[in-house]
Amino acid sequence: MEKLIFATNNQHKVDEIRVVLGNIFDIITLGEAGIDIEIPEPHKTLEANATEKSFTIYKLTNNNCFSEDTGLEVDSLNGEPGVNSARYGGDERSFEANIDKLLNKMQHSTNRFARFRTVISLILNGEETQFEGICEGVILKERRGFNGFGYDPVFAPAGSLKTFAEMDIIEKNIFSHRKKAMIKLINFLQNVN
Ligand code: IMP
Repeated sequence: MEKLIFATNNQHKVDEIRVVLGNIFDIITLGEAGIDIEIPEPHKTLEANATEKSFTIYKLTNNNCFSEDTGLEVDSLNGEPGVNSARYGGDERSFEANIDKLLNKMQHSTNRFARFRTVISLILNGEETQFEGICEGVILKERRGFNGFGYDPVFAPAGSLKTFAEMDIIEKNIFSHRKKAMIKLINFLQNVN
């Protein structure tokens, strides 16, 4: 099976993506590749951060790899937190603080529409291709559920009464932004192989 390094330190993302890609590619995490670095995310767009992450790992390993960058874009906050989703509530990157800030800022918002947007950057033999996945939904007024990570307890995808945090990975993947981007990645990889 062909080896593909997934340039992330987030085990939740690895679990979600292994469910999708595990039979087709041998997904290697940074830890399994023996790489212990905090990958920089210095840019103002998901696209630029995804590129930065994947090229950082490609230059270190010379192995085919991919990264992904995801943001939550809230309509009533003009697309915030967007590219700042991880650090919205402060530099400690706390999921709880991020949600607290979001709910606080949306206290009086009647427009609750939001979307997760994922950008995957694949480096194959030194060349980059990007894939986007979007999941539309709404931000609830309070947390519901304990699964998943990040903003999952307050995000209900369109077409579901449950939040992502009330779903297991299989169910989340029916709706997930990351899954949609992964499907595009898989189609691409199957066509070049
Ligand atoms: P990252 O920079 O791509 O790791 O993601 C930025 C932040 O977006 C994360 O710290 C999470 O808070 C949030 N995030 C990314 N993907 C998801 C998801 O699938 N569900 C909930 N929150 C997510």
